[in-house]
Amino acid sequence: MFKTDRRGVMRLEAWSRHAWLRHGFTTRKTGDFREWPSEPEIASAFDADGFGICALRQVHGLDVSVADHAWGTEGRAADAAVTDRPFVLVGVRTADCVPILLVDPVRRSVAAVHAGWRGAVAGIVQQAVSVLRVEYGSLAGDIECALGPCIGVCCFEVGEEVAAKFPESVVDRSRRKPHVDLRAHVQAQLRSAGVGLITAVGECTQCNPDRFASHRGQGGSAGRMLAVAGIRSDLVR
Ligand SMILES: [Zn+2]
Repeated sequence: MFKTDRRGVMRLEAWSRHAWLRHGFTTRKTGDFREWPSEPEIASAFDADGFGICALRQVHGLDVSVADHAWGTEGRAADAAVTDRPFVLVGVRTADCVPILLVDPVRRSVAAVHAGWRGAVAGIVQQAVSVLRVEYGSLAGDIECALGPCIGVCCFEVGEEVAAKFPESVVDRSRRKPHVDLRAHVQAQLRSAGVGLITAVGECTQCNPDRFASHRGQGGSAGRMLAVAGIRSDLVR
């Protein structure tokens, strides 16, 4: 389902059929993306020569930035970005939160979404699907989705006040404190928004410290992983 290249970038194998698409989820092997990388670094990590980037200052909110050009490393405050323009790379950075890439091969639009528990509860996932429809006419049923590495239900222990914000179906109460399955929650949100094809990296960031950055696992020293998507050309079908 996902294949990791020699740089440590994970890609959804099914998306190799979209010759026009560039995408990937970095791992610790690729580097630490606490700072947004330069365009040459991006180009070598993602086989994305000529792409500009759209840095975000992620604030656990509901704003989706529409990228009609690549504005570079000066981050706009938003937790998702969408584009249908060639050579514009949208991306999010995570270390436990869920990185989500949405691709509409019909209208040829893409989105990158950062869903921590606050953003997920607020509805950032549905908001991104809605902005793809409003901006580009993308139908949810055409959208394909990849979820990158995030914290698993094994490690996402929360207080009762946080657990109460989630449906009981994604709260594990078999241990002393509640644990939330954030990945399952986001998948359910995507399904109820009508997104057909959803593929998720199953592994937990905190359980795999050699491969993934984890805020819970590594605290202040945790790096960030980068998830990106972009359209290489408007000519290639
Ligand atoms: Zn875990």
